[in-house]
Amino acid sequence: MSINSSPLPPLYDRWMQQCLQSPIPNEPKATCNDCAMCATEQPGSSRDAVFYDPASKCCTYMPTLWNFLVGALLEDDSPEAAPGRRTVEARIDAGVAVTPMGLQRPAVYELLYSRISNAFGQAQSMRCPHYIEEGGRCGVWRARESTCATWFCKLERGALASEFWGRLHRLLFLAEHSLSRWCVLQLDLGEPALRSLIPRQQASTGAPLAAADFDQRADPETYRRKWGPWVGKEQEFFRRAGQLVRELPWSKVRELGGAEAQVAEVLVQDAFRRLSSTEVPEHLRAASVNLKLDPDGGALLTTYSPTDPLRLSKRVLEVLPYFDGRPTAAVVESICQTRGLDVTTPLLRRLVDFGVLEDAG
Ligand code: SF4
Ligand code: SF4
Repeated sequence: MSINSSPLPPLYDRWMQQCLQSPIPNEPKATCNDCAMCATEQPGSSRDAVFYDPASKCCTYMPTLWNFLVGALLEDDSPEAAPGRRTVEARIDAGVAVTPMGLQRPAVYELLYSRISNAFGQAQSMRCPHYIEEGGRCGVWRARESTCATWFCKLERGALASEFWGRLHRLLFLAEHSLSRWCVLQLDLGEPALRSLIPRQQASTGAPLAAADFDQRADPETYRRKWGPWVGKEQEFFRRAGQLVRELPWSKVRELGGAEAQVAEVLVQDAFRRLSSTEVPEHLRAASVNLKLDPDGGALLTTYSPTDPLRLSKRVLEVLPYFDGRPTAAVVESICQTRGLDVTTPLLRRLVDFGVLEDAG
């Protein structure tokens, strides 16, 4: 979900600049201020595409706001952050699924989310509590978590970019997970509270819910146990967590993430190298994709995601079978001679990025 020049929130942007030694390109097709997934009367908006409800856009999702992100949001006293900060304060005051780890998803929300088949982009009742109705924007934009920070409905480089963002999501999630635990340790939550916060066995998704869960209220005893010495001082705890994390360099975050985060980092760097390359493979073949033909002989192709279909003209569609694994330069020459079509390098790259053509090397 992208609004400004950097596709990432400031803290994650700084870390990734250190990790990748280069800025991450923006995703300008995800035009959140004028949502690219909301139907318009404009010509070119296809009846075949998937559309989201303008009252929710893609924010039919409740993210976990990790303790240090909550702290960053509480510390942001700029006027434009005020509406979002109020949504965070309201959740802390309500106490539902509020733990020293952060603001988590209430059990009822989890249950509903797992049971509704087409909630995403559609079910207004599943809308994120940090969505600001006025202006239809995210209230926690500057400290949104990894899922929201790395999800885009449309990607400039299609499947290739999807691989990068998926890898980055994993890396940031691992970082969030370890940092939230690290904050809890640094802030001396105490062993009894830790025991309550991190049970020996995670509750299974099918575990029965308590009455308090259904009523969307916090059970006072469980709540007190989890917060230990910090009960009643939750906002201060979150602020301290935010202060602990905000100055950390990426090298420290990587160290705290352990081997799993370090492996994830290598895979992000690898995906970023491929995303940064515009080379065209020396041998290509046409991939198998879903397509819906247009009356003019062109088609809408669904490749890596239904939210980002690719429209191809009849002329381009007709030359795809030429790509059968022979050297790309020879195929391009043959298309030029037999069909009079100039298959340019940017067009080839686009077909590869979106998985219409695949590397046959
Ligand atoms: S669907 Fe979400 S990511 Fe895509 S443009 Fe709309 S708000 Fe942005
Ligand atoms: S945190 Fe922001 S971007 Fe994420 S679902 Fe909520 S309103 Fe949308």
